[in-house]
Amino acid sequence: MKKCRASSRILLIGAGVSGIAAATRLLQNKFGNVQILEAEKRIGGRINTIPFGDNVIDMGAQWCHGEQRNCVYEMVKDLDLLDFTGDFFSGVRMVRSNKEVIPLELGQQLYGIADMSVPKGSNAEAESVGSHLAEHYWQEIESQLPQVDRALATEALECFSRHESSILASDNLFEVSGRLHLEYEKCSGDQLLNWRDKGYARFLRLLMKVCEDEPEELGALEGCVLLGKKVVKIEFIDPDKVRVVCEDGDAFDVDHVICTVSLGVLQEQHERMFSPPLPAEKVNAIRSLQLGTVDKMFLEYEKQPFPDDFVGFFCLWREEDLKQLRCSDFAWLEGISGIHKIKHQPRLLLVWIGGPHGRRVELLSDKRVLEGLQWLFCTFLRFDVPPPQNFFRSKWFANPNFRGSYSYRTTRADELDTGPSDLASPVMGGDGYPRLLFAGEATSQSHFSTVHGATEAGFREADRLIKYYESCKTNR
Ligand SMILES: Cc1cc2nc3c(=O)[nH]c(=O)nc-3n(C[C@H](O)[C@H](O)[C@H](O)COP(=O)(O)OP(=O)(O)OC[C@H]3O[C@@H](n4cnc5c(N)ncnc54)[C@H](O)[C@@H]3O)c2cc1C
Repeated sequence: MKKCRASSRILLIGAGVSGIAAATRLLQNKFGNVQILEAEKRIGGRINTIPFGDNVIDMGAQWCHGEQRNCVYEMVKDLDLLDFTGDFFSGVRMVRSNKEVIPLELGQQLYGIADMSVPKGSNAEAESVGSHLAEHYWQEIESQLPQVDRALATEALECFSRHESSILASDNLFEVSGRLHLEYEKCSGDQLLNWRDKGYARFLRLLMKVCEDEPEELGALEGCVLLGKKVVKIEFIDPDKVRVVCEDGDAFDVDHVICTVSLGVLQEQHERMFSPPLPAEKVNAIRSLQLGTVDKMFLEYEKQPFPDDFVGFFCLWREEDLKQLRCSDFAWLEGISGIHKIKHQPRLLLVWIGGPHGRRVELLSDKRVLEGLQWLFCTFLRFDVPPPQNFFRSKWFANPNFRGSYSYRTTRADELDTGPSDLASPVMGGDGYPRLLFAGEATSQSHFSTVHGATEAGFREADRLIKYYESCKTNR
């Protein structure tokens, strides 16, 4: 017999934003027995705001991307929490490895040409983002900048590709499906809305209805979250019961499970985590979608080390310098996609690194990394940058509870005709009702890789259960 909301037991795996969104919506809809198991000793997952410098830094999500049809923006737009950043990256300078600073206008033209060569609306047949970019970039260079130095244009294309790869979190743009890339729905409006000096954790507090002066509280989720509880097994024990077993041996027999762990965790663990094994379509999606790595490194100085009119720089590696770099101990520096200042944190620099180099650098000591960065500054900049006072960086891939940063749509997924909807589809119990549900950013069809996508996915799965229980209202 179908249970009612008050007695039904629902377990969420993961207290990232998707799990938190799902749990808060279930509680709002009178579900009486909702619990989250979280492997880490903190909530938030890939939202991780920590004190550093003059206020806070975000090790994971930092910007609200867009305003229209963005559920994060919708929730906060009247609360004066977000600050416009504008077209920040257009001010970041292109600098060559011989210290030559490319004139701002030329740099913007090269960047603009590369940007317009990425598959957009009418190019739905594009094979991969990389192949489309390479072909169209050179056509546009011929028509718009025929006089430009070809070596410089090549360096700019490589630089743009690194930057775009770090935005998409891909190892390179040739793995990103051009067709599926177009399914990402950009929310119009400012793409880099920042949370001032509060960080993205402010949004989590809002979801949980925590007062601003009680940042450590869990608000609506008080008593519902168990931290340091790593789930190792999820098994169907009856047509209508699922057993969830934790690493410490604790077991929970529940009516429904909403699994929100990252795609990277699913890829690594699904074979031993689920019993019976997940359906073939879902396994297909798990194997062919990808969770890429993007990491951040924060450097704190006594005072801002860049001149006032220098926002930051993109590295243009000259061919001969790149050859040398690749044979050196600092080869990982090639993975850096940009270095720049941060709004509301005047004494900090933020360095982005991704792809295979990003994964490799996670294994190096801070000392080695700082030596490399100092060498990079000396190689590219005409002014001196002192050693930083403090240094902190993310290691999203090395952490077994994440195994990467955010998902993207691969050419492989395109070939196999799979994607987020296969990842999102629930596994039914023997009684034909949704027992094992999936949320998390990678399950979002059009907003994957973002906080708003993860939030929507959490709401989506909560709504699935709410709808399922609507028919037994009278049962309460
Ligand atoms: C460096 C970086 C920058 C980003 N920048 C932005 C940005 O500016 N704007 C934006 O919109 N998005 C950004 N994102 C993406 C955004 O952070 C994610 O899409 C979103 O936070 C994912 O939320 P989630 O709930 O789906 O997953 P997660 O946050 O990964 O939550 C899943 C939770 O499950 C837990 N877990 C894993 N395994 C287990 C287990 N076995 N048992 C129990 N718990 C487990 C994890 O610890 C985690 O807390 C960024 C991400 C990164 C890493």
